Amino acid sequence: MRRWMIAGNWKMHNNKSEAVLLAKAIKEGTQGISGGDVVLAPPFTALQSVYETIVDSHVLLAAQNMYYEDKGAFTGEISPSMLKDIGCTYVIIGHSERRKYFHETDEAVNQKVKKSLATGIKPIVCVGETEDERNKGVTEFVVGVQVKKALYGIDNINEIVIAYEPVWAIGTGKNATPAEAEEVHRFIRNIIGDIYGEVCNNTRVLYGGSVTSDNIGELINMEDIDGALVGGASLKSEGFIGIIKKASEKK
Ligand code: PGA
Repeated sequence: MRRWMIAGNWKMHNNKSEAVLLAKAIKEGTQGISGGDVVLAPPFTALQSVYETIVDSHVLLAAQNMYYEDKGAFTGEISPSMLKDIGCTYVIIGHSERRKYFHETDEAVNQKVKKSLATGIKPIVCVGETEDERNKGVTEFVVGVQVKKALYGIDNINEIVIAYEPVWAIGTGKNATPAEAEEVHRFIRNIIGDIYGEVCNNTRVLYGGSVTSDNIGELINMEDIDGALVGGASLKSEGFIGIIKKASEKK
């Protein structure tokens, strides 16, 4: 069975001291939970302090973005080797907010995935359709293209986590039903199965979009849902710990 993963994407929230308090509460509240991974993705400015808070614990650190060069004249960018140096295990790549507001393309996502793997940081690659695309019935086409382009030329599929995040469900309170989510997860699993064969049986596919401690229980028990990428509900320790506890009970 694949290990579950619950990752908290804090987006542009929490200054240093708030981040440390939240990370500490999550670390303490999830002590002893096994069978999966708890990951926190604070903003860049809090990575160091959160790292110091969770170092040598079961909680792992992720960044929310990176650039695909090691160093150079790229004002404002952060390289994967810098993330590795500061203790990141994971990096979120291609979040829909980056695609929408910062014009991140599938090609850039692919370059970032390649570079993160080459540097030893595991990418959490986000894909998902907009509301308009779902209404037009092209969800599988859109998600299929995003997955194939993100993985183009990549061998080590088991170092990658895919997060299916329907754009219409992010931050809206309108989460996909477990059946709707499972359908797309199964589709993604089939795509990677066609490319990589049985090796990818261990690749994890997370759901994201308005996940809370109230709806995670049903989502996590779907066969092809291996965990969640959580935004809003990862900002309060109690709710986030509740999500992690329910994920750890996946049957
Ligand atoms: P949300 O965000 O849980 O607030 O919907 C999820 C995400 O953007 O990763």
